[in-house]
Amino acid sequence: MAIRIDGKALAAKVKARAAEGGRALSRRPGLAVILVGDDPASRVYVTGKEKDCAECGFVSFEHKLPAETSQETLLELIGRLNRDDAVDGILVQLPLPGHLDEEAVLNAIDPEKDVDCFHPVNVGRLVIGSPVFLPCTPAGVMEMLKEYDIPVRGKQCVVLGRSNIVGKPMGALLLQQDGTVITCHSRTPDLAKYTREADILISAVGRVGLVSADMVKEGAVVIDVAMNRNAEGKLCGDVDYAAVEPKASYITPVPGGVGPMTRAMLMQNLLTAARRHGA
Ligand code: NAP
Repeated sequence: MAIRIDGKALAAKVKARAAEGGRALSRRPGLAVILVGDDPASRVYVTGKEKDCAECGFVSFEHKLPAETSQETLLELIGRLNRDDAVDGILVQLPLPGHLDEEAVLNAIDPEKDVDCFHPVNVGRLVIGSPVFLPCTPAGVMEMLKEYDIPVRGKQCVVLGRSNIVGKPMGALLLQQDGTVITCHSRTPDLAKYTREADILISAVGRVGLVSADMVKEGAVVIDVAMNRNAEGKLCGDVDYAAVEPKASYITPVPGGVGPMTRAMLMQNLLTAARRHGA
């Protein structure tokens, strides 16, 4: 029977730590959140981030723009926020409407305010091992491993998914902690061949039931990053939790696992940014 990694409880601890750090500053850390359009899921994420800021005693500035906002207007706003001393972090909620150039928009954010760690400068810093900000989701996973005293050094780590925001930085962080990392993706033939060897298996694909019990080694640590809806509309991950749990040594639930950690790590990054800005 696996130990269930409680992301919700740990996230509360991380946020409490960030709040305490914030109280020692001369001003409150400020997060600007830009939401273009009215995608309901994005709206929920933005509200969550604003709630986290309030809980930590940080300030949030919401910029809600209509779906038809031009690239020029959006870049102008980012330019203004880059120059605003009350703003320590800038977050553009993704996805953006199709007519906007996501890469150009993210690249316009001052790397010192890039609390999501999406800017190429921060991605580069991460890969060479001198990060300023850590990408929130992978950093949340690393925090969980640390909290539960799960060693990474020398372990075989298999990451399913190679996106820029989860899979790739996840591999970079595990590598930095001396894990042996294999990254799998949609073109990997025979996924199970790799997953069965994993001491630490991290799934970030977005496919209900992708990871079945026969794909998991006895005693493996299983981290489920995905957030899917099953046929009944219930939130679930990639891992068949009920079947995998008896085989694993540690496992994260969905919901209540990596999700809350992602939000908490954003608050930690905002505190880091405010400190770097001399707050
Ligand atoms: P993404 O950009 O869609 O990337 C998915 C990755 O999975 C891609 O690299 C894709 O491979 C790979 N993939 C697709 N089908 C596969 C298969 N059958 N076998 C192996 N790999 C396969 O997604 P993302 O943004 O990284 O997010 C992944 C999941 O994590 C989603 O469920 C998302 O909702 C969730 N998520 C959760 C949090 C959180 O806070 N918990 C944060 C971010 C994302 P290719 O590169 O070859 O296409």
